[in-house]
Amino acid sequence: MAQHASDDPVISDASKCIKCSNCINNCPADAISYVNDVITIDKEKCIGCAKCIAECPKRIIKPESTNLETNVFLERLVEYACMFTRKKPMVYINVLANISSSCDCSARAPLPFTQDIGILASKDIVAIEQASHDLVAEGHKCEDAFLKESGVSGLGQIEYAQKLGMGTRKYKLVELK
Ligand code: SF4
Ligand code: SF4
Repeated sequence: MAQHASDDPVISDASKCIKCSNCINNCPADAISYVNDVITIDKEKCIGCAKCIAECPKRIIKPESTNLETNVFLERLVEYACMFTRKKPMVYINVLANISSSCDCSARAPLPFTQDIGILASKDIVAIEQASHDLVAEGHKCEDAFLKESGVSGLGQIEYAQKLGMGTRKYKLVELK
């Protein structure tokens, strides 16, 4: 909850709302309603859990900022990972399959947007994230597939993880067949 609590959702374009009420039904704080028939978030009631952002099928509920310098949530994801990964040596495994543009833990997860790529393993969490980012971008034929598909780039988090001393963005791919 503390990790998510900085999220400050806004309705980016209410005219695209299809009035499915998913956000209303999933809000634990009863903070969303139709005011004069327009979907509206009550900032006083909102506890910043981000559930509505994940549940909107039209993707019109967004964090107020997606800039890493001002989006505390993105930084906190890295910091929480940093806390756990510092405890003992680890091996990281990234399965690059069924990649969707946002949370695939949601019941309304979007369909995968790129082909299955393979499985990566590394002892460096930053290197494996950078390699994964690059392979997904290459498979999607663009420079930043997540920015293109979801409007949020993961590159800032990889840079931040390196800044926190979690690893290096440099990597060498060794293909096993
Ligand atoms: S962030 Fe959570 S509490 Fe706030 S409006 Fe969305 S679902 Fe409700
Ligand atoms: S989930 Fe999205 S489309 Fe559905 S009512 Fe809420 S804002 Fe509108």
